[in-house]
Amino acid sequence: MPEAYAEFIRLATKLENHYKDMQDMEFTIEDKVLYFLQTRNGKRTAQAALKIAVDLVEEGLCTKEEALMKVDPKQLDQLLHPNFDVEALAAAKVYGSALPASPGAAAGQVYFNADDAVAAKKRGERVILVRLETSPEDIEGMDAAQGILTARGGMTSHAAVVARGMGTCCISGCGEIKINEATKTFTLGGKTIAEGEFISLDGSTGKIYLEDIKTVDPEISGDFSKFMSWADEVRTLKVRANADSPKDVINAVEFGAEGVGLCRTEHMFFEEDRLPKIRQMIVSNTVAEREAALAELIPFQKADFKGMYKALAGKPMTVRLLDPPLHEFLPQEEGDIRELAKEMGLTFEALKETVESLHEFNPMLGHRGCRLAVTYPEIAVMQTRAIIEAAVEVIAEEGIDVIPEIMIPLAGEVKELAYVKNVVVETAEKVIAEKGVKLKYLVGTMIEIPRAALTADLIAAEAEFFSFGTNDLTQMTFGYSRDDAGAFLEDYYKKSILESDPFARLDQTGVGQLVEMAVVKGRSARPDIKLGICGEHGGDPSSIEFCHRVGLDYVSCSPFRVPIARLAAAQAVLNNR
Ligand code: PEP
Ligand code: MG
Repeated sequence: MPEAYAEFIRLATKLENHYKDMQDMEFTIEDKVLYFLQTRNGKRTAQAALKIAVDLVEEGLCTKEEALMKVDPKQLDQLLHPNFDVEALAAAKVYGSALPASPGAAAGQVYFNADDAVAAKKRGERVILVRLETSPEDIEGMDAAQGILTARGGMTSHAAVVARGMGTCCISGCGEIKINEATKTFTLGGKTIAEGEFISLDGSTGKIYLEDIKTVDPEISGDFSKFMSWADEVRTLKVRANADSPKDVINAVEFGAEGVGLCRTEHMFFEEDRLPKIRQMIVSNTVAEREAALAELIPFQKADFKGMYKALAGKPMTVRLLDPPLHEFLPQEEGDIRELAKEMGLTFEALKETVESLHEFNPMLGHRGCRLAVTYPEIAVMQTRAIIEAAVEVIAEEGIDVIPEIMIPLAGEVKELAYVKNVVVETAEKVIAEKGVKLKYLVGTMIEIPRAALTADLIAAEAEFFSFGTNDLTQMTFGYSRDDAGAFLEDYYKKSILESDPFARLDQTGVGQLVEMAVVKGRSARPDIKLGICGEHGGDPSSIEFCHRVGLDYVSCSPFRVPIARLAAAQAVLNNR
């Protein structure tokens, strides 16, 4: 039927030209006459979406700006992480689901603690780490895993934030799972899985499968960089990454990050060779003992900062001073305390007493952030020295520009900020004088306590930049624990009290007001103040649009979300013209 075929081509082209998009068309031919029944924009995978967008521009059918609006930023996740084989997935049974905390697909054998996970990886196995919740001590096990499943925890819990940073699939807050650590088994949906058995996780949907499903690795085509360069031409928000190691920074720069918006320095302390030193600092009884322990950490911090500055080649980096409560660096179980006491040459009773003295009912509201530096200024001294010495050395060795941005976390009262800032500035000036060089550096703060937002004009008198820590700001504005709220938020969605997880998508009505107020007050006191966001919302498209509207200078998110943020920032410009 050559005539019907020619007519089909003519009309298909006409429809595609008219809608300026790939069409999903239904037609029929009756008595050699062609009839079109329906047409609509075709559904597409992420790869196809990019190809279509680029082809439409190259064929002159639409402008680059129109093409940018045709790709959903969140879809880019599909391009950057492994996915399940479509046919294998279709045949698999879902046994449960929980929070899609970090995207991608993973399949592997189950292990219940970090040591077993690391050992299994060494044997060449694919590993899924299953935990009640993760803590900084689990970091090496998380690193060894293809995927992480936790029974507790929300979208900004330790597991979620760290997995997202690593680009590792994670499902968190699975209340239905019953883990038995003693027998190394878990039960879900009526089935019991023992250590070493296979399960699969879809971190993009939160679905859990109790079998080994084939995965396919992501592929990035040439269209990707072309398309992303169009986004870069349009956006006005800068995009930085949250990164804590030279390796993360290299990754982030490859994804297009224009700097580091948050280096969580505590993450540098959990490696095997560093943890004993920070523990030594914690059990110290005098300032001199603490200073001696901290002095041993300087070389490690400095080497990491140097590696990061070099990888950034002149792009800015915000380094945050130590933030978590100190108990996170010590074991809590009696057996582990006993073992560590032996290693450290302490009595069990002495170490147990330290652990107990650090116990707090609400550690997230406790002795953390800048409060640590108020009690132990020597920690801030050590970290500032490492930040400044590293910068001076990298400038001399590499001839690149480095302007360190030192960030003081969790300030709520300008005087506490001023106190810690003073420690930082005195130390920085001392190091600069010792080295006999000139160095520009900035000192700023996070806005993550409602009181800091309410008094942002006063805070800005002491801070050269603000970075909105919307994880804590959300926690403290709603009064929801970022670690546990997942357990009841599901009821809030079901009963239409909340539309979405405020830890994933910024609550513009409430938390957003605080951000907007702090922007206005901050700029009124210091017109050239630099403003960014480094909470997890910095990688969420609708939150990024909000950041654009309220006039932030940059967003910062995990390296794997940098492309999403670049596209979302471009769409924010186009949506708000
Ligand atoms: C925040 O609170 O938003 C933040 C970035 O800091 P952290 O997640 O480390 O508390
Ligand atoms: Mg915080």
